Amino acid sequence: MLNQDLHIHTIYSTGDDAIVPEQTIAFVASVKHAKIVGISDHFEYLSDGAYEAYYKELREAGLKVGTEIDGHQFADEAATFNFDYFIYHCRDLDADYRSLERLLAKGKPVLIAHPNAFNTNLNRVPSECFIEINNRYVWRTDWKKFYGPFKDSFKFVISSDAHQPNSLGQAVAQNAAVQLGIKEHMVF
Ligand SMILES: [Zn+2]
Ligand SMILES: [Zn+2]
Repeated sequence: MLNQDLHIHTIYSTGDDAIVPEQTIAFVASVKHAKIVGISDHFEYLSDGAYEAYYKELREAGLKVGTEIDGHQFADEAATFNFDYFIYHCRDLDADYRSLERLLAKGKPVLIAHPNAFNTNLNRVPSECFIEINNRYVWRTDWKKFYGPFKDSFKFVISSDAHQPNSLGQAVAQNAAVQLGIKEHMVF
């Protein structure tokens, strides 16, 4: 079991075409692939009426209530909603770095989403932010070169960024076997 996974999408990310219909909150909760699980659907799909149901469903499932914010355009509005934490797309823009300060002022954890994918300048990111190593994006760039210089400057979190059950890892198949009462046979 993983320690934590706070970057997971569900069918609440309605406009994200990587989502499959099986990726529901109930399904993610049932897999129990990590000790601490948080859901972080894209804020732009929650702000227009879906937030109340999202919040209630996550609380009832015992999962942390997060959201992924696409830069400064959405940050001020997102900060007015009650989330346990924020995941933030910080592009290399003055406005994106400025909005980070306003999110931090809420006193909730702020995680910088896959900074290697956006070429976020980590020299401009406050050290109170948590830096994500993201399973969906880490391998697409020279991660040693990107993260290496900052390894002692920040605290890091490791996330799946799952949009589909298989991104939660082999725990999905293991959970099915357990529920079926099947014990895996070791071939070797
Ligand atoms: Zn993202
Ligand atoms: Zn994401």
